[in-house]
Amino acid sequence: MSSLVLPDPMIVRDFLRTRTPYETAKTALFVYVIVTHTFKLYRHIRARGVTDSVRHSWTWACKQALLLALKVPSVQKDVQQKLNQARLEIEDKLVPKAVPRHLALPEEGKSVEWILAEMAKMDSEMGPKADWRHAKLSGAVYHGGDDMLEVIVAAFERYAVSNPLHPDVFPAIRKMEAEIVSMCLRMYNNPNGAGTMTSGGTESIVMAVKTYRDWAREVKGIMEPEMIVPATAHAAFDKGAAYMNVKVHLIPVDPLTRKVNIKRVRRAINRNTILVVGSAVNFPDGNQDDIVALGELAARHNIGLHVDCCLGSFILPFLEKAGLADGEDGGARYKITPFDFRVRGVTSISCDTHKYGFAPKGSSVIMYRDATLRRHQYYVLPDWTGGVYASPSLSGSRPGALIAGTWAAMHYMGSDGYLKSCYEIVSCARTIANTITNSIPELYVLGSPPASVVAFGSKSLELNIHEVGDAMSKRGWHLNALSGPAAVHIACTLLTLPHVNTFIADLKDSVREAKENPYGKGTMVMLYGLGSSSAVGPDMVGEVATFFLDALYKA
Ligand SMILES: *Cc1c(COP(=O)(O)O)cnc(C)c1O
Repeated sequence: MSSLVLPDPMIVRDFLRTRTPYETAKTALFVYVIVTHTFKLYRHIRARGVTDSVRHSWTWACKQALLLALKVPSVQKDVQQKLNQARLEIEDKLVPKAVPRHLALPEEGKSVEWILAEMAKMDSEMGPKADWRHAKLSGAVYHGGDDMLEVIVAAFERYAVSNPLHPDVFPAIRKMEAEIVSMCLRMYNNPNGAGTMTSGGTESIVMAVKTYRDWAREVKGIMEPEMIVPATAHAAFDKGAAYMNVKVHLIPVDPLTRKVNIKRVRRAINRNTILVVGSAVNFPDGNQDDIVALGELAARHNIGLHVDCCLGSFILPFLEKAGLADGEDGGARYKITPFDFRVRGVTSISCDTHKYGFAPKGSSVIMYRDATLRRHQYYVLPDWTGGVYASPSLSGSRPGALIAGTWAAMHYMGSDGYLKSCYEIVSCARTIANTITNSIPELYVLGSPPASVVAFGSKSLELNIHEVGDAMSKRGWHLNALSGPAAVHIACTLLTLPHVNTFIADLKDSVREAKENPYGKGTMVMLYGLGSSSAVGPDMVGEVATFFLDALYKA
């Protein structure tokens, strides 16, 4: 009987005897590949869930079929024609026609007067759109006031040519950079931690991904790293993963609270996981993930937890003192839960000085729990022909002027300055959120955003929120469109404060207009309509986005 279930040992021995070692090795390799791929597939499906995996496979299959159909010459011609038209429209919008161009170096150098006059001309030729001071922006310019501008310009002037790559030549710049990092570490309750400055939130995040990749390779021997990222996390994590060759598991958020689904995060953790990500607060809708729950998971599995405070920057650490961390406002409940290094399991935090720190653009800080972790961020080439090379982050030479400008901005503001700006900006955002909830019945606010960003969607299929966004554009607003779900957001800054009432009045008007005229052809409607039109929609949008980048470099 047993020979029916188990192979007879004699047969196995004969089988092996008749095979050459080469064949046996080949079989072993084959079995190894099958087994490892099966495990890989298992981990992949476990992270995504069966339903999502099936749905993704189906979308993928549809996409392949459509891509095949697009190869039919007549269809291809049609698509090319449409894309060409899109390209021309983008260039038309971005690149002005009837202005003098300076495509090559002038034969002789120009005077300062000429240069400034030419800049003034360019600004005025491009129309009122170029006036950021009075523009109704979402985020984009984190202006700290005219006096702050003076402070930054003075610092720039003094340190215009400085380069922190040479601390022996510019010792004050080195000191200021170390102090900026120290101030941020104290703000985030980790005075004994470590960090570096970077060129912005994206570089801070890309550096964090590199740090965990190298840490996991060295300490845990992980060669095929994976990271777990909430769907609402910033695109910089995907960018970092693409640059650093790390696999991403995108985890959905709870549709009501807009916090990442902790159960799904737990399921996605496996022996290749190097990093979990949480946002405080996220860019799309300004809500905060449950950092405490993420921290527990990270600590239990000995993996990294990066908290993205790029946007929360100088708002979240001041909410409690501003009396806005926990309470009711206009019927909504706002609650900040712990997000900084006091939470067990948090191993790194990115904080953008160039957002609510009001520092000049091009400055951010990446912080680690300790200096041991930071070492994995460094790049060192001891035997370079050009000498021993060591740099803390992506850049080699860096602008010392930005460090001086940031140091100046932070000292000019001080804790009391940031407390005041936090109070004003968050109050502004809550006024907007509460008005939407209480007096615009067609719209709803995504989650209960505790800080500066408010995202709103439409309650019914009859009203397309991107239509509302386009109507707002016509009224001079530069808002952000979101997908999943379709929504529009505003990130309040000090520049928003004087426009709150206009915003609310314009939003009510725009809702009315979008209901009366539901088939507009504005940018948001076109772009996001295209994206969700078919399985190849995202590829088409990708193509259009590439045209946009090309157009940026059309002189
Ligand atoms: C702005 C932002 C970033 C990236 O910042 P950049 O400075 O634009 O590179 C990352 N995360 C969040 C939540 C942000 O809002």
